[in-house]
Amino acid sequence: MRSAPLPIDLLGLIGNTPMVRVTQLDTGPCELYLKLESQNPGGSIKDRIGLSMISAAEQAGQLGPHQKHIVEATAGNTGLGLALVAAQKGYRLTLVIPDKMSQEKVLHLKALGAEVVMTRSDVGKGHPDYYQDVAERIARELGGFYVNQFSNPANALAHETTTGPEIAAQLGNRLDAMVCGVGSGGTLAGLSHYFAKAIPECEMVLADPEGSVLTEYVRTGKMGKAGSWVVEGIGEDFLPTIADLSRVKKAYTIPDKESLETARLLLKTAGILAGSSSGTLIAAALRYCREQTTPKRVCTFVCDSGNKYLSKMFNDFWMADQGFLPRQAHGDLRDVIT
Ligand code: PMP
Repeated sequence: MRSAPLPIDLLGLIGNTPMVRVTQLDTGPCELYLKLESQNPGGSIKDRIGLSMISAAEQAGQLGPHQKHIVEATAGNTGLGLALVAAQKGYRLTLVIPDKMSQEKVLHLKALGAEVVMTRSDVGKGHPDYYQDVAERIARELGGFYVNQFSNPANALAHETTTGPEIAAQLGNRLDAMVCGVGSGGTLAGLSHYFAKAIPECEMVLADPEGSVLTEYVRTGKMGKAGSWVVEGIGEDFLPTIADLSRVKKAYTIPDKESLETARLLLKTAGILAGSSSGTLIAAALRYCREQTTPKRVCTFVCDSGNKYLSKMFNDFWMADQGFLPRQAHGDLRDVIT
């Protein structure tokens, strides 16, 4: 009898995430596949870059015994990826997070030992309270290493060398469309570069929250004025340096309500607990699928777990407060009794 493999280090569990096909939703003539990035040890797709950006900085001599302080601006998930690595390697980690992000992520980060600085969500690039500018300032003033996922090449490279090859192998190199969101743009850029060589016929499709400037940029080459949105982790008010959108020909703008309803429906029908940005990606993927007239294989992500949003999008009271559910949907026993 063969003995079970020895347990490996937690960081060795990053990546090689499972893929499932969704058959419970209307996908028109298409097959829709979800890569479950929620299964990473920190619970999101950003674990991959937490590891790759710290390793690259160590190799470049930017982190090490002389520099043990990491500073980053994050919607939370990059922070969790960095915190896993920082906890094991004994780095100090300071994270700047916009205040719209879920409490679950913030509490998880603090429990992991990160220092969390909350800042305003309602200001854009150039404002002194903008989270990326605050992080850069803290790093400068305290002499820390500013990771800057938005212009760090090790971000996109992690997806080019791990996420892309995994998807190609899991789908036997047969993929017609890949649907991605853009936060830092690392996922989209890395996959674009990989698929350009490995599966050149694969169309890159952008899923963008309503209020973000990126759909208009894809369609017209111009950047409009940003609004606001509740979905966490994707959508931008500027074009990040590493966000290469050159292979994106199709983009969908998804309103918050549709994103959240899609994630709730996915849980109810398929049992998959996905976060808010995954709702946007899957809503866009479903729109793409239903527009097709011939069968296509389409892939997108469950970027993170819905566990991080139980008190928000999976809470009917919060949904009603935001205007996403009718008020009378709760506190009303008629549904149960009749
Ligand atoms: N989904 C979630 C939940 C995220 O936190 C992020 C990153 N902030 C993304 C998607 C976007 O990924 P990327 O930064 O690679 O564009």
